Formats: sequence, structure tokens, C-alpha cells
Amino acid sequence: MVVADRVVKSFGSHTVLRDISLTVKRGEVLCVVGPSGSGKSTFLRCINHLEKVDGGRLTVDGTLIGYRQRGDKIYEMKPREAAEQRKDIGMVFQRFNLFPHLTVLENIIEAPQQVKRQSKADASKRAMELLTRVGLAEKAKAYPASLSGGQQQRVAIARALAMDPKLMLFDEPTSALDPELVGEVLDVMKQLAADGMTMIVVTHEMGFAREVADTLIFMDGGVVVESGDPREVLGNPQHQRTKAFLSKVL
Ligand code: ATP
Ligand code: MG
Repeated sequence: MVVADRVVKSFGSHTVLRDISLTVKRGEVLCVVGPSGSGKSTFLRCINHLEKVDGGRLTVDGTLIGYRQRGDKIYEMKPREAAEQRKDIGMVFQRFNLFPHLTVLENIIEAPQQVKRQSKADASKRAMELLTRVGLAEKAKAYPASLSGGQQQRVAIARALAMDPKLMLFDEPTSALDPELVGEVLDVMKQLAADGMTMIVVTHEMGFAREVADTLIFMDGGVVVESGDPREVLGNPQHQRTKAFLSKVL
């Protein structure tokens, strides 16, 4: 589903991703851990077209991200083409980013109506199904400010799912939450994984990674230092940098 082949990304002279290669198969969950500044968010942003890679190839479902290939020539993608590809990729951020002036239901039906041209009735029906799935059907008419952080994040997940993405990206979805609210969001994500969603999750929740991830990668300085079964990487890290990092977070 996602193939990164020697991906490079720089901001000016600062190379943030150097030579990232990895594969996430359909239905798999990849967890990404690493210190601040190691390039985790930048990698997700490249997958979701919010940044363009400078080197290597990044494909989702066989389609090159950010570029078009014709014959052996490669062209940068126009913003409209990029938006078209992004429709299939859901993203959930650390901050919930809900529209404050819209109700929970209105937040969820906005993109399916605007981008996918769904009718309000169809979008609303699907939104209620998704709200039920994340345990918040009774909050459909509430405004975001009246919800807890954990509830807002579950709405944000429902909103991303409303576009029927083939891939979900999560960038530290629980790190802005009070500790007692983390579990309810992780539970929704676990259920999503169990239902077969392909997911890439940047997280420092090692329990979640151990339980849910098919693969865990440790990034540092823009490279994948270590990658493998989460129980192996967490239980028996091979590299000094991984050991040092894990000793701080575990
Ligand atoms: P954190 O754990 O703090 O979220 P991260 O691993 O997600 O860190 P990134 O946000 O990907 O790290 O940032 C990696 C590096 O790229 C940092 O040094 C950051 O300052 C730099 N960077 C990110 N975005 C930009 C940008 N738009 N312009 C310039 N530099 C950037
Ligand atoms: Mg980040």
C-alpha cells in the first residue's frame, strides 16, 4: 500500500529525511517512534502531499505521490491532482483541528459533501454510523468546545474516516491529551486496525505499538535506525541510539 524507496526531503540545506525506505502492506499497521526533530511528521506530511519529496520515490497503492510519470519523464503534480490523491488518505493530528463553529455532525459531513459531492442525507447517515463506531452518537449536535479532548480526537478520527480513506496517518494523536483520555482514543484506533485499516502511527505509546503494530520503526536524524517486529525492537533493541531513546520513554 505504501512504498518509500530511498526518500529524501530537505528544507534548504537541512536534510530532514535521508534515504528512507520502507513498505506498509494493505491492512498493516506501522508505528513510528523517534526523538523530536527526527523527521517523523515530515515523513507523514510527504505521504499526504503536504510536503514534496526531493529524492527517491514514494507510492501509495502503486501511485506516485506528488509527481506524475509519463514514459520515463517525471513531472511535479499540479495542486489539483495532489488534492485528488489526498482524498484517499486520512490524517489525524496531535491537535484535533475541528471547525469550532460547526457541530460534530457538521464537521464530519463537510468534506464528503464538498469534496465527494455526497448529498447531506447520505453524508449524515454515514456520519452517524461513524459516530456510533467511535462511541459518540449522542454528541452529534454538540459543538467541539463542549467535548473533552479525547472526545474531540475521536470526532477527528470519524471525520477522517468519512472520506473512506484507504490509508490513515496519525501524528501523535494522543500526546496532547490528559492521561486519563488517552485510552479511549487508542481503543478506537485498535478497533480500526482490527477492522483492517492500513495505518501509519507516529506515537510514543509503546504499549499500543507493541500490541497493534505489525512493524515498529525507530527514526533518528532522518534515517530509519531500526525496524522490525515491535516486541523485538522494544524488547531487544540492536542499536545504541534505539536503546538510549527507549530507556527514556519506556
Ligand atoms: P517531533 O517529535 O518534535 O514532532 P518530528 O520527528 O516530527 O519531531 P519533524 O517535524 O518532521 O520532526 O521535523 C524534522 C526537522 O525538520 C526539524 O529539524 C524541523 O525543524 C525541520 N522542519 C520541519 N518542517 C519544516 C519546514 N516547513 N521548514 C523548515 N524546516 C522544517
Ligand atoms: Mg512531529
